[in-house]
Amino acid sequence: MMNCKQASEMASQQLDRELGLRQRLGLKLHLLICRYCRNYARQLAFLHRAAPKLQAYIESRDEHRLTEQQKEKLRQVLQPRD
Ligand SMILES: [Zn+2]
Repeated sequence: MMNCKQASEMASQQLDRELGLRQRLGLKLHLLICRYCRNYARQLAFLHRAAPKLQAYIESRDEHRLTEQQKEKLRQVLQPRD
C-alpha cells in the first residue's frame, strides 16, 4: 500500500506525466481511504489549472504596474517544482 508521501508525490507527478497502471491504481486506492491526500490532490489540480491563467493575467493586465523583476519572481512562485 502506498503511503501518504508516495501518494502526494504521485498526485503531483500525474499532472506532468502519464503514470503507470500500478502507480495510478495505487494512488486511486490511497485517495479512496485517505481524505488528507484527497484534499491535497484536489488543491494541487486546482493550482495546476489556475497557474497558467494567473500567469496570463499578470502578463496581460499588470504589465504597467509590475516590473520585469517582480513578474519574474511571480513566475518562479507559480512554477511547479519537483
Ligand atoms: Zn494519504
